[in-house]
Amino acid sequence: MTGPEKADCFAGVCRVPGLSLLHNLKKPAMRYISTRGGMPPKTFSEILLSGLSPDGGLAIPETYPKITAAELAAWRNLSYPALAFEILSRFVDDIPADDLHSIIHQTYTAEVFGTPDITPLKTLEPGLHILGLSNGPTLAFKDIAMQLLGNLFQYQLAKTGDELNILGATSGDTGSSAEYAMRGKRGIRVFMLSPLGKMSRFQTAQMFSLQDKNIFNIAIRGVFDDCQDIVKAVSNDHAYKEAHRIGTVNSINWARIVAQVVYYFKGYFAATKSNDEQVSFAVPSGNFGNICAGHVARMMGLPIKHLILATNENDVLDEFFRTGVYRPRTTTETQHTSSPSMDISKASNFERFIFDLTGRNAQQVKELWSAVDQGKPFDLSQTPLFAKIKDYGFISGSSNHAARISTIRDIHQRYHVLVDTHTADGLKVGQMHREPGVPLICLETALPVKFAESIQEAIGHEPERQAGFENLESLPQRFVVKDADVQVVKAYIDEQCR
Ligand SMILES: *Cc1c(COP(=O)(O)O)cnc(C)c1O
Repeated sequence: MTGPEKADCFAGVCRVPGLSLLHNLKKPAMRYISTRGGMPPKTFSEILLSGLSPDGGLAIPETYPKITAAELAAWRNLSYPALAFEILSRFVDDIPADDLHSIIHQTYTAEVFGTPDITPLKTLEPGLHILGLSNGPTLAFKDIAMQLLGNLFQYQLAKTGDELNILGATSGDTGSSAEYAMRGKRGIRVFMLSPLGKMSRFQTAQMFSLQDKNIFNIAIRGVFDDCQDIVKAVSNDHAYKEAHRIGTVNSINWARIVAQVVYYFKGYFAATKSNDEQVSFAVPSGNFGNICAGHVARMMGLPIKHLILATNENDVLDEFFRTGVYRPRTTTETQHTSSPSMDISKASNFERFIFDLTGRNAQQVKELWSAVDQGKPFDLSQTPLFAKIKDYGFISGSSNHAARISTIRDIHQRYHVLVDTHTADGLKVGQMHREPGVPLICLETALPVKFAESIQEAIGHEPERQAGFENLESLPQRFVVKDADVQVVKAYIDEQCR
């Protein structure tokens, strides 16, 4: 810790004297409610460690903070962490501002994210950009939110003296991003279930090579759904969950959304010269977390023309934005694609957008999701809500394997830039909707090295490994193998917590 002299340090977070008063005085109270209306208003810290609201809904701010033209002008030249502090402090008002400031500045560093820009903008040609979100430790955009979450969790747990056992299921990016964010954190253990032998060698090595004592990789003899079923079964065992302080870090966590709001502002400033300009963002989407952050940025007043939602073959969201019908898919309808992190049957954060679309009508959201929770569709096409979607700037499209391979090849030939399969889906759909005079910013959600096979197919050779990842697969691995059995997994957790 360099920083100001005589900083007072607590849980790895140091107080910068004299910062908190000003910030705490001018801020109105920020409270969070549930999209289904059944939760008394709570503070940020109260929702930080929780998953679903008690009524099954998702936490959302009572109102979105509105950014004035003067504030937007003042933010244009801020560094990433300074901008992150300005934005986050509008959503987080029960952590002292100087603590929040330190947490943010310790999270968004060139050491962790490879560059002081954190999210550098790459210009392919005038008006067409890629926002680099994948320079964190696991080479995918989830690190941006997860690294902050790790530091917020550690801070919060140190305050209360509690422990947290994070239980998750992964088929790739989420698991490794969570492990790299929580490794070595006091008060936190991570139990991550993955299907034995089903992840790519790179992804497996990324997770299993971690030697930290608080990280437990559990390879399950089964498929991803078996892993997810075990997590659900443990989460539904309320007594066990309570006694073992089980928590999750899945994409419905509000802190993850709000951390992602920051790079929409950063990308906007990087791609424009003045705040009179509008831009559009193309977002490779799965659980609707990333683009939900774009929606929040737009609600705050960031001049976004279109939020272009891109899906792969699993097009449940594209179908909704085109037709007004939201039809969750069954497991067997859900395809395994070459952009696997977007292979979803329904989108867990989508409820937040529908809450806003209905004019924040919790009763209506509750009714709609009583169908969704039973795997049934809902249809807004015959209601006034369908026409309202365009007021929120959303448009959509879907991509497929052939389109993403040809997009990777095309972008490589024309601009000498290599993108991964997910980013290619975003570029494909983004270019379909590109408008003259409106800069298009495509969000890069992972680096190509994670999906070497598809890159080989597109350009005839594998991508180069970046420094530090050359020998990943030959590093020693630390994991246990267990049967797909809830009792077996519970017994393993018991042993480690003793
Ligand atoms: C998680 C992920 C996505 C989907 O993001 P959502 O927030 O779930 O919509 C897209 N691409 C990659 C590489 C991911 O890891």
